[in-house]
Amino acid sequence: MTIREIEVKPLHGLGDYEESVLLEPGVHHLRQTASAAVPALAGRRLWMVNSTASGGGVAEMLPTMISLLRELGVDARWAVIGTDRAEFFDLTKRIHNLIHGAGEPVLTTADREVYEAVARENADSFAPLLSPDDVVVIHDPQPLAMAPLLSPENKLPLIWRCHIGLDRETPATRAAWEFLQPYFGAIRSAVFTAPEYVPGFLADRSRLIRPAVDPLSDKNLDLSAPGVMEVLCAARLAVGRQCALTPLFDSPVRRLMPDGDWRVADESNEIGLLERPIVTQISRWDRLKGFAPLLEAFVHLKTALTERKADPAHRRRLDTARLVMAGPDPTAVADDPEGLEVLEELSRRFLELPPELQPDVALLSVPQNGLMVNALQRSSTVVVQNSLQEGFGLTATEAMWKSRPVVASSACGLRQQIDDGIEGRLVADPEDSETLAAVLDEVLADPQARMHMGRRAQSRVLRDFLVFKQLEDWLEEVRRVV
Ligand code: UDP
Repeated sequence: MTIREIEVKPLHGLGDYEESVLLEPGVHHLRQTASAAVPALAGRRLWMVNSTASGGGVAEMLPTMISLLRELGVDARWAVIGTDRAEFFDLTKRIHNLIHGAGEPVLTTADREVYEAVARENADSFAPLLSPDDVVVIHDPQPLAMAPLLSPENKLPLIWRCHIGLDRETPATRAAWEFLQPYFGAIRSAVFTAPEYVPGFLADRSRLIRPAVDPLSDKNLDLSAPGVMEVLCAARLAVGRQCALTPLFDSPVRRLMPDGDWRVADESNEIGLLERPIVTQISRWDRLKGFAPLLEAFVHLKTALTERKADPAHRRRLDTARLVMAGPDPTAVADDPEGLEVLEELSRRFLELPPELQPDVALLSVPQNGLMVNALQRSSTVVVQNSLQEGFGLTATEAMWKSRPVVASSACGLRQQIDDGIEGRLVADPEDSETLAAVLDEVLADPQARMHMGRRAQSRVLRDFLVFKQLEDWLEEVRRVV
């Protein structure tokens, strides 16, 4: 298997965004930037190259970017590398983990042979598609070794986009960067998400571009309160109501029941979304997402902290509060043994809870459906992202865009988005459940503070983390490099 070009169908046009009074200024600014940057590209094609056409943040982001770039007059293309060698993706997963500081810091000569052989296969099939004027953006480590093969004399403008990183150097990160360093000769600039992620040897060639959300995607589009209710009904997250506008989704959300079975909720075990104070975290079932300490924090909030409350209004709030922990359908993560293990541990912990607490904790299996995530975030009183490590944390960005107050750990990606007490709250140690409980308690107690943080959160995303800003950054970077 070799590289293949992926067709991108036009998604929303810039005019669709301009219909919104909130989004129009961002589009206007983008058009201005493009009017200078696009002619400077003089018809060069811009290739985005990554390793998968579906699944994961990069594949989710590229179609929107490519479609809007085309509307702005850039001949943008998308290519995905391929190989039949299964060991290649085992290796690149190891490199990915090492850059995050995890795993045995050993990469061998045999690893390098596999890495370079796959790069050769793909570069050979990619080269005939390229013209010398093209600009190529290589995403993440998987296709990186193609760089010297595509541009042996450094003539092709090549940019590397790194979507991952760790904010400190460890033996693991050192092993990964030492392995990758030989391929950077032909790379003109390296784009990172946070300054903390830049390895020393790339400092003089690095740029910063923030990830971004698409405000018209299913996951982020504006939903009215009745619209949220429609989606909750269609997902069977709200039971016993007559919602006629949206047909039921083929795959509903399932909830872990006290008997250990995952079932669609009925009236006896409805969560109470839009009625109760709801604390929500939506993430992959990954240990680094900090679900387990979040559950401990919520139990502490519902027991020790609630008992101490004198104010009857706040006591009632805590009595009725519920925790939603949502993630992908366990069958969809069947190829992710670690994810299954994390989900099993959480399930076990849920089943051990005192029976009177179980109704207040909803473990949800959510199908791949942006509208469901959207409605869940919008029906949350507080959105949590308690990550032990986080590259950026789009879940936080998504909730902030919806004016939700976010309680996050101060993992590197999250502190790029939130200043404590301004756009949300940060908790220094995600494993310190008592402090997390105390912060949740404070945020639940103060509707005014929640409203202010929510508004400022949305303004922050509007300013820094929408797709228009990201495209401007890319246009400027590509212009600079050529
Ligand atoms: N997500 C989802 N369904 C889930 C869990 C997560 O759609 O059950 C989405 C979430 O809305 C976000 C992305 O997956 O858009 C996760 O991105 P993030 O940067 O937060 O973390 P990552 O998974 O890349 O580590």
